[in-house]
Amino acid sequence: MAFVNENFLKLKQSYLFAEVAKLAAAFKAANPDKKVISLGIGDVTLPLPQACIEAMHKAVDDMADSKTFVGYGPYEGFDFLVSAIAKNDFALQGIDISVGEIFVSDGAKSDTGNIGDIFATNNIVAITDPVYPVYNDTNIMAGREVKIIPCGEETGFAPVPPDFHADIVYLCSPNNPTGSVIKKDLLKAWVDYAIKNEAIILYDAAYEKFICEDDVPHSIYEIEGAKSCAIEFRSFSKTAGFTGTRCGYSVIPKGLTAKTRGGEKADLNKIWYRRQSTKYNGTSYIIQRGAAAVYTPQGQEQIKATIGYYLENARIIREAVTAAGLECSGGVNAPYIWLKCPNGMTSWEFYDELLNRCAIVGTPGSGFGEMGEGFFRLTSFGSREDTLEAVERIKKAF
Ligand code: PLP
Repeated sequence: MAFVNENFLKLKQSYLFAEVAKLAAAFKAANPDKKVISLGIGDVTLPLPQACIEAMHKAVDDMADSKTFVGYGPYEGFDFLVSAIAKNDFALQGIDISVGEIFVSDGAKSDTGNIGDIFATNNIVAITDPVYPVYNDTNIMAGREVKIIPCGEETGFAPVPPDFHADIVYLCSPNNPTGSVIKKDLLKAWVDYAIKNEAIILYDAAYEKFICEDDVPHSIYEIEGAKSCAIEFRSFSKTAGFTGTRCGYSVIPKGLTAKTRGGEKADLNKIWYRRQSTKYNGTSYIIQRGAAAVYTPQGQEQIKATIGYYLENARIIREAVTAAGLECSGGVNAPYIWLKCPNGMTSWEFYDELLNRCAIVGTPGSGFGEMGEGFFRLTSFGSREDTLEAVERIKKAF
């Protein structure tokens, strides 16, 4: 009989979203006349930008004619998309990242999960708490030691470099679930930490396009020295509604290295290319055409409108819960609002309270790690109408 990878058996079962959905369904069944509003959605709800839809329709037509038909594409992505990313997300922002350093993928979940393939299992990995669970679970699957960087109220839920050594650090800014950001000075402290510890930072910037404030870096490569110690992940999911369409990319700078057991330097850009060309056959041509349309003037205008819509929802939620006397943070550079449960309630107690008093569903913070206990995540991905109705209910109830 074959042997199983026992690391999978060490994973904690995640009941969070299943439990949230189950309790909400039971409430609906018991209260058929009440409209339940979800402020717990982690998925986008607005349709794809028109520019992307048109580009994808045209790409389907390309596939219908042998003169324009496209089969397997380059492992790192089609040049029309990689060049558009290099130009718009980096060169025009004054950031020194170029075409050979960008790898298109089917999204940031795959990339943040798969990147572990190129690192040894004896690395010490640091993750924040609360955290996007993929970082923790994929490292448990690989059998790595994971250390926690607590991110509580004292630091505005931002991660501060720890006094212990780590070889690999996952950072996420703007953050899911707390909506916090890593400002320029703090990110510089992280780059310094990585250089001193010869560590690699895995920087998840999936929500980069939600950044509004000036002192929040859009890319870790805005910090001097980061090209020698950081990999960055981006996603079209929340930028352009690609959660179902699937497209993202990773940046692995040329010259970024990790060491062999013999102490030699190995080039991570080349190793990731080898990994991708072996295990991945590229993101669909049609989807990459859609993603490239994000960078057209129309696409840029349309994603601005969509993100502006979600950020306005976030402002409405933030201001209403504050007016209701509840403490919250986030929701300025991110679609997530991180609420402190009132009167010392646990996250699940507040879940019940919000459901029973307001018929609103949210996400208990304790589902994102121990430090999330006593907190609650609200999201701004709902419709304006639902968001306005939800905040009216909150204002009346609290
Ligand atoms: N990273 C973070 C922090 C996220 O919150 C999410 C999705 O919720 C992802 C990555 C996944 O992105 P993608 O849809 O590109 O796989």
